[in-house]
Amino acid sequence: MSDPDVVGILYLVSIICFILALRFLSSPKHARRGNWVGGVGMVIAIATTLALDGISNWLLIIVGGAIGSIVGVVGARTVKMTAMPQMVALFNGVGGGAAALVALAEFHVAEGGDLGSEEIVSIVLSALIGSISFSGSMIAFGKLQELISGRPIVFVGQNIVNVAILAGAAALGIALIAGWDEQWALIGLIGLALLFGVMFVLPIGGADMPVVISLLNAFTGIAASATGFVLNSTLLIVAGMLVGASGTLLTLLMAKAMNRSIANVLFGAFGQVQAGTGAARVDDGRTVRATTADDVAVQLSFARKVIIVPGYGLAVAQAQHDVRQLAELLEEKGIDVAYAIHPVAGRMPGHMNVLLAEANVPYDQLKEMDEINPEFPQTDVVLVIGANDVVNPAARSDPASPIYGMPILDVDKAASIVVMKRSMAPGFAGIDNELFLDPKTTMLFGNAKDSIVKLIAAVKAL
Ligand code: NDP
Repeated sequence: MSDPDVVGILYLVSIICFILALRFLSSPKHARRGNWVGGVGMVIAIATTLALDGISNWLLIIVGGAIGSIVGVVGARTVKMTAMPQMVALFNGVGGGAAALVALAEFHVAEGGDLGSEEIVSIVLSALIGSISFSGSMIAFGKLQELISGRPIVFVGQNIVNVAILAGAAALGIALIAGWDEQWALIGLIGLALLFGVMFVLPIGGADMPVVISLLNAFTGIAASATGFVLNSTLLIVAGMLVGASGTLLTLLMAKAMNRSIANVLFGAFGQVQAGTGAARVDDGRTVRATTADDVAVQLSFARKVIIVPGYGLAVAQAQHDVRQLAELLEEKGIDVAYAIHPVAGRMPGHMNVLLAEANVPYDQLKEMDEINPEFPQTDVVLVIGANDVVNPAARSDPASPIYGMPILDVDKAASIVVMKRSMAPGFAGIDNELFLDPKTTMLFGNAKDSIVKLIAAVKAL
């Protein structure tokens, strides 16, 4: 295809599809449609690019495309919901790596010589940011997959070492832009940027990885955009910027929902084991009250309004289908049931929405934190299922708590609270939860799936 107007229009259609996709993805109701529209945009973009004049290496393109498609389809179909963040890290990382490789290839083809200043700046940015995104994402993947320790890995002088590595990469970049046309300088820059990506992510705790992945995702978008300048592709520039902007916004939203600054996430080594924590304090006279499924069933039978609070443990136990079944059973008995969704419940944004959507829980029963919080005082029973930090009242009352200021679900304002988890172990933040000692709270210990199955049987038996 040689008509630039036709190519331009087809690329414009792709860009519109990408923008619409982001719009639709902003609500669980339209998310599937968003995925489809984005996919259609990508098919148009790839088909148009392959139809451009001058593309000849078909064997390589077909083999590469086939390998990528097989890995993508098999990966997406087999990944467990709880492993979604690491899959995003992996896919995001290869995007950054691809941007760096394109930069290296373009520099090699031009042999350094006839590159304009815009091109060499783009090559340097693409190689630098793409490489950081690649190696950083691989470390994030390794931490989440538990191939390496999820705890922050810290050592004395870490920040100085990191700044030195980044300064080395930046110095090579400046030399290249100034006209130094040695290929090894670009290879050296990529090597240092890869090292920086590793060193930058190692000190960050495993549970902060979703925020880091979102940030690295923004990096990949910017690297892809820079590659767009190298390849003279408006489509890549715009698509990369869309990823860059949405990744940045998502990172900021996640940090806000945890009431933490980006700097605290990146440099705070959050999630290190803190002395004295590990279980709710029970040495001040208050005791934890354990309950049974039969007792909870009786409690539920007297309730008019029940709110279910899902958390990370629900995803681990894969109990979403059982929860829906329990909710339907309660509704059949005339009980009003709703789900309270905290923005950072689970390990990635929207984790609970996706999990419950998979079990066909109606969207109108899922209520966001601001909408549901005023309803807790009128609620008879709250079932907290595998959630911990997002219901910890210390976020409201204890200025010394690491999560102080984080907006939480006000479950402690309900008439009674049942917490389902396996033990008194803390959640991601590694801190005590006063809620477990509240006289209104009872603990139903056990794997969430087993507890709910028992609860369903007990409710049916009443
Ligand atoms: P938490 O990590 O606070 O708590 C989860 C609880 O689930 C644990 O206390 C654990 O207790 C329990 N659990 C684990 N497995 C099971 C199981 N099989 N059955 C029953 N219970 C189980 O989860 P929340 O969802 O409340 O909070 C999310 C945390 O993650 C917040 O601190 C948030 O800031 C953080 N985070 C979230 C991000 C996001 O985008 N969603 C991003 C970055 C961080 P036990 O071991 O006793 O069973």
